[in-house]
Amino acid sequence: MGEIIGFVCSKCSYEKSYFLGTGFRNTKEKKLYECANCKVLKASFLSIPKCSKCKNSSLIKLDDYEKNFNCPKCNSEDFNFGISGSWD
Ligand SMILES: [Zn+2]
Ligand SMILES: [Zn+2]
Repeated sequence: MGEIIGFVCSKCSYEKSYFLGTGFRNTKEKKLYECANCKVLKASFLSIPKCSKCKNSSLIKLDDYEKNFNCPKCNSEDFNFGISGSWD
């Protein structure tokens, strides 16, 4: 079963959920990464993923979702972990 990790921006109310882990049909595990360059979040099953925004490949794997991230919409640092669930 996979894990849903979602973030909500407390400034502009933008929210985005990432489907992580493996579902029944997937064999590759998806993990969540943060770009070291532009701070954009990205879910990927690659071991060295590339940022979809700045094309940088220095992405950091996230284990801790309990910090503030950069909102992809308004760029404020108020993008917080607020949604969790499971998928298959
Ligand atoms: Zn980037
Ligand atoms: Zn925002």
